[in-house]
Amino acid sequence: MRTYDKFYINGEWVEPIGKGSSEVINPATGEVSARVPYGNSEDVDAAVSAAKKAFESWSRTSAAERAEFLRKLAAEGEKRNADLTQTIIDELGMPIQNAATFQVDPLTIICESFAEKAAQMEKTKEVGNSIVVKEPIGVCAMINPWNYPIWQMIGKVAPAIAAGCTMVVKAASQTPSHLFIFAEMCDAVGLPPGVFNMIHGSGREIGGALSSHPDVDMVTFTGSTAAGVQVSNSAAPDVKRVCLELGGKSPFIITEEADLDAAMEFGIKDVMVNTGQTCNALTRMIVHDSKYDEAVELARSNAEALIVGDPTDPGVFVGPMSSAEQKQTVLDYINQAISEGARLVTGGADMPSGLTRGNYVAPTVFADVTNDMTIAQEEVFGPVLVMIKYSTIDQAIEIANDTPYGLASAVWAGDKDKATAIARRIRAGQCAINGGDPNHEAPFGGYKESGNGREFGIEGLHEYCELKELQY
Ligand code: NAP
Repeated sequence: MRTYDKFYINGEWVEPIGKGSSEVINPATGEVSARVPYGNSEDVDAAVSAAKKAFESWSRTSAAERAEFLRKLAAEGEKRNADLTQTIIDELGMPIQNAATFQVDPLTIICESFAEKAAQMEKTKEVGNSIVVKEPIGVCAMINPWNYPIWQMIGKVAPAIAAGCTMVVKAASQTPSHLFIFAEMCDAVGLPPGVFNMIHGSGREIGGALSSHPDVDMVTFTGSTAAGVQVSNSAAPDVKRVCLELGGKSPFIITEEADLDAAMEFGIKDVMVNTGQTCNALTRMIVHDSKYDEAVELARSNAEALIVGDPTDPGVFVGPMSSAEQKQTVLDYINQAISEGARLVTGGADMPSGLTRGNYVAPTVFADVTNDMTIAQEEVFGPVLVMIKYSTIDQAIEIANDTPYGLASAVWAGDKDKATAIARRIRAGQCAINGGDPNHEAPFGGYKESGNGREFGIEGLHEYCELKELQY
């Protein structure tokens, strides 16, 4: 079991002012996997004050100096890869088969990516008699979710370091340990005191105190749309910049000309990886009616072929849900879908066969779903796919756009040009074309209620910048 009892503030491990503590439960075994301190708003004050003080000198460092720290963090990430991967298995329950690749390896890749981009901060633009320069926005509060905790954290911390910002970071209560390890990494590379500060505690208390703190210049939040709205409200009185990365209910349009075998294999793995706890999971499959029955059968066979169980077993693809509460939420959605008339193709609310403990939910597929059903509109955040029929492309696009969300999407058509033409009509920040791969260099973020910011790529750096016009 991991035990931490201090926060990392101003380059030192300090006793928390708030005296609470929290236990992290391993979702596969129900055993305690970590014990961590739970601070209060006074800890927030101490961390923000350190970040504010550090901003004075850190914001004036050269881009080359900041890039060097990011390269050192990238190297340190490789050294700590095994420790970080273990936290993902123990706290999130993501199987070892995917934990490092999806969750931990990106840390090094993203640090190196923003080390390259830091020099952009020193590029200027001439506009008539003006020169436009970039400056770091200031003290950033960063609040992260539990489903891709390291990826989300480094997607904020690395561009903020590159830009010359200072920061206070909070992890989700379910997955805190990686952030204590990351603080050790910042210490190991000698990041100047106060640039990176970490505290921990309840989202409502610590998250609220961070979002409303008068000395915080920007809040960057990844999590549910409901909590994102609360963060925006808390940040509004002093007009902080707010960057939100929120939930999704992403559509996957499969046309009648698509390579159905390839599309179904891609679609099922996309939904079931990380046990469906992926913000951009393609959870609404919209299939041409001429291919629908065949697609439903392929969805069933692909879902049933996935091995569910102990995340430490290298053969397992689907682990437990992250918590007992999350499992109950998913089971409630499954039962509601059945009561609203969706046809259960495979999976369902029973414990997957052969398992007697842990927060497991079987990979579940629903057919005969209409887009007005709850299961088609709300983010389930579990291993649940809904399959909807369409007969014309216009109708498919209308269904795709008919939710409050707009995070991601996918199209599989006869060729890339046809798929791209459909993709351009979908109101979402991302579209995978005929099985396109993820790309850490491209901007990631949502339309509509899925958010208002972009992470990764040069656009991810620009979120942390102010622009200043010098007139001559
Ligand atoms: P969540 O319950 O909204 O929590 C996210 C973070 O916010 C946690 O650190 C949480 O702390 C904190 N928090 C909770 N209430 C808060 C409040 N009132 N003020 C400030 N902070 C607060 O979300 P989650 O269950 O961890 O994550 C799942 C959600 O994140 C899904 O909707 C998913 O789609 C979304 N997500 C989006 C993206 C994206 O890039 N668009 C990426 C990943 C996940 P505690 O843990 O202590 O409660």
